[in-house]
Amino acid sequence: MKKEMPKNEDEIKDILTPEEYHVLREKGTEVPFSGKLLHETRYGQYLCKVCGNPLFESDTKFDSGTGWPSFDEAIPGAVRELVDDSLGMHRMEVVCAKCGSHLGHIFRDGPTKTGKRYCLNSVCLDLEEK
Ligand SMILES: [Zn+2]
Repeated sequence: MKKEMPKNEDEIKDILTPEEYHVLREKGTEVPFSGKLLHETRYGQYLCKVCGNPLFESDTKFDSGTGWPSFDEAIPGAVRELVDDSLGMHRMEVVCAKCGSHLGHIFRDGPTKTGKRYCLNSVCLDLEEK
């Protein structure tokens, strides 16, 4: 079933748990090694938990050892990168291109040929199996 884009912040609050809301809408970070998608290996597409936008294909997922689900490429146009200078660090935040929800960060130290390491929060994603 296709997810409908929530109309406003109250609707988003209704569909998310408090932890999901904190990470997705208040740029929180889930505790490392706690996320349910960390060891997920099923085949499919990872969708934005808020709006259902397809973000990552399962074959771009890899084990980075960081404790968060990691990907080496996003679906073209699915995410946007924003400068994040919080916590005294210069990082690039990754958000859903459709609804602007926070997903995680991207680093350019990836071990695969793309050189990208999308470090994401499990709570931001839904796996749609294929
Ligand atoms: Zn979204």
